[in-house]
Amino acid sequence: MLTKDRAVCLRCVDYSETSQVVTLWAEQAGKLAAIAKGSRRPKSAFDGPVEIFSFGSIVYQPARGGQLGTLTEFQQQPLFRGIRSSLYGLQCGLCAAELVEALTIPADPNPSLFESLIQFLTDLQSSAKPDDQLALLILFQLRLLQEIGLLPILQQCANCSNPYRGNWRTIFFAPDANGLVCPDCEAAYHDKFVLSRPATDALADLHRLRDSSHSARKEIEKFLLDHFTRLIHRPLKTASAILTRTS
Ligand SMILES: [Zn+2]
Repeated sequence: MLTKDRAVCLRCVDYSETSQVVTLWAEQAGKLAAIAKGSRRPKSAFDGPVEIFSFGSIVYQPARGGQLGTLTEFQQQPLFRGIRSSLYGLQCGLCAAELVEALTIPADPNPSLFESLIQFLTDLQSSAKPDDQLALLILFQLRLLQEIGLLPILQQCANCSNPYRGNWRTIFFAPDANGLVCPDCEAAYHDKFVLSRPATDALADLHRLRDSSHSARKEIEKFLLDHFTRLIHRPLKTASAILTRTS
């Protein structure tokens, strides 16, 4: 049965001279992979080849029996063409797309994550400064973790619920506890690493992220990328481009 939805493209690969296989994040359907037959022809029902961040109304035949779905129509709106105007902004967008694809499963709808992704891409392309783009990416990554139920515990000790206070002499994060561990509990965790106070303050209270320094943002992003690497059991393709920016 043909189904209508709204979607943004997370990934696309050429399948033949004229077709593409696209991975979309759709408002009602969640993640779906489909073949777009003829999308690379000059005249098609897709308003030109599908690209990453292509956005618009889709009509598709859902996947059946292990087969790919079929995209039959894509009315593209030029909503996110501006993302390419900033290289770092584009890299932040690509990182978000890679994460959504890697951390979700097909046919598991999440309209709220669709809203968050659209809002993130909208904010990203209206933001010119790399440091602001990085802060937007951090907020989106935390939102994604929340949406999929894997948000780390960042306001209190994950072991004893002792609230995080600026007076903890050393702040550890323990992946096994998926959260901060306080000075009284840290000895129980072998696998742990230290977070700085400015980075932890911003993570514990996201309003502080706005006023955080470049080095705190970079530390938070490194922490999050390491966290994602553990979750998906491989490094992210986009990670080095996010972290190597020097300014
Ligand atoms: Zn504790």
